[in-house]
Amino acid sequence: MSDLPDLLNFIDGSFVESQCGHWIDDLSPATGQTIARAACSDSSDVDAAVEAASQALPAWAALSIPERADWLDRIAASLEERAEEIAQLESLDTGKPITLARTVDAARSIANFHFFAEQGRDFVAETFEMADATNTVVYKPVGVAGLITPWNLPMYLLTWKVAPALLMGNTIVAKPSELTPMTASLLAEVLQDVGLPAGVFNLVHGTGTHAGAALTAHPEVDLISFTGGTETGRLVAASASSGFKKLSLELGGKNATIIRHDAPVASIVEDVRRASFMNQGQVCLCGSRILIHESIYDEFVSAFLDSIVEMQVGDPSDDQTDLGALISAEHAAKVLSYVDLAEAEGGTVLSGGGAPVDIPDAFAGGNWVAPTVIDGLAPDARCAVEEIFGPVVTLHPFSDDEEAIDIANMTDYGLAGSIWTADEAAGFEMAKRIDSGMIWVNCWLHRDLRVPFGGVKNSGVGREGGRWSLSFFSEAINICVKR
Ligand code: NAP
Repeated sequence: MSDLPDLLNFIDGSFVESQCGHWIDDLSPATGQTIARAACSDSSDVDAAVEAASQALPAWAALSIPERADWLDRIAASLEERAEEIAQLESLDTGKPITLARTVDAARSIANFHFFAEQGRDFVAETFEMADATNTVVYKPVGVAGLITPWNLPMYLLTWKVAPALLMGNTIVAKPSELTPMTASLLAEVLQDVGLPAGVFNLVHGTGTHAGAALTAHPEVDLISFTGGTETGRLVAASASSGFKKLSLELGGKNATIIRHDAPVASIVEDVRRASFMNQGQVCLCGSRILIHESIYDEFVSAFLDSIVEMQVGDPSDDQTDLGALISAEHAAKVLSYVDLAEAEGGTVLSGGGAPVDIPDAFAGGNWVAPTVIDGLAPDARCAVEEIFGPVVTLHPFSDDEEAIDIANMTDYGLAGSIWTADEAAGFEMAKRIDSGMIWVNCWLHRDLRVPFGGVKNSGVGREGGRWSLSFFSEAINICVKR
């Protein structure tokens, strides 16, 4: 018997162990110590969860959208009462700074439910009049939704799927990352506390290769919403598409931060730093390639390096910490292997490049990488076009907008990017020519939840956010009545 918290599956309204009785150790990224153990589920657990979701579907689907919106508000209120606990668990489980966990992870998880509740109340189904008939669009639930989420923003991304899926009348089987199971369990507790009908939301902990793959292949699952890496996305797409499941893929990114000749360096440098290193660079939207106009290259690089020196790296539970630990030892090793590769490719490490020097002994077993800046790489070098997903950025000069656009588009990814300029109109025109799902001009991660969210090229298929989520999590049926 372990003293650690046991994170159980939540199936048909009850917390249960996996049927095989196996567990996965949940490690603290900051210390390397085991902090919990999560159920290690396999296909039999997924079968039970899908069965529960199927049984619960008719009654949940029969509610009106405003009735389900009320449920979302109840869930948001209950999450709000536990906001600090969400932040603490998320910081512990992911290694991210507590301030970030409070202001982004906990806050957004709550906001996701309130936002989709409002979307539901404002929702108006279309009608199209003909001379002799009326077409009425009816939005039906898709059915049982399989939701698979990554470790970087665990509850934020899970609730981004759960809220619209519930709103549109689907029932759910969720599979969070095995690396960050804690807040998914908290969400299940909240859903039990508010009295959500049994089976409407089910949670299966476990590995991607067992629990995740069983969910994407399950014949009774009607929809898969997946957020994660591009290579996993390929497997998920292959598995889900053979059963014609409705599919959304939010995948990796290698986003450009473009600093035009007229950008006010002193006033943007902190924003660019945030875009580079937020969540240790483990945000799919982070700007990991910084393209700088040659006329201000030296000025920007000097200001950027100065601002990095001020970053506090270390104890995630300290309110002052800017940069915490990476998610796992394997991931930190992968990130550092890219630094070695950059040097082999001719790059120069201007900052970081290894573990920070002053990490206290208590965190010696953690996964640390200092904020790292690499100069001198060709824009098509592997480090400049492959997703590293850590606190590593590469710097590239450009001579005019055309060259910046070419470099920005020189990757197989197309998720996001930002442009920094004194000329908004020029920034807007440039943004239109970048092959990417989302571009910010003079800001980064400035989110309005109503807008479409998603990538092009290898960054994904489909859009979520606002009405795009409502559309994805429903089937639009047209009924034509002739008068
Ligand atoms: P990942 O390894 O692809 O895992 C994502 C999820 O898929 C996890 O729950 C994982 O489970 C599961 N999984 C793994 N293999 C599977 C399989 N064969 N079938 C079904 N599920 C499977 O990604 P990650 O390392 O957690 O997350 C980082 C990646 O996510 C980065 O590439 C990042 O860019 C991307 N991301 C994209 C967005 C976006 O909105 N576009 C947002 C956030 C993150 P286990 O972890 O338990 O194995």
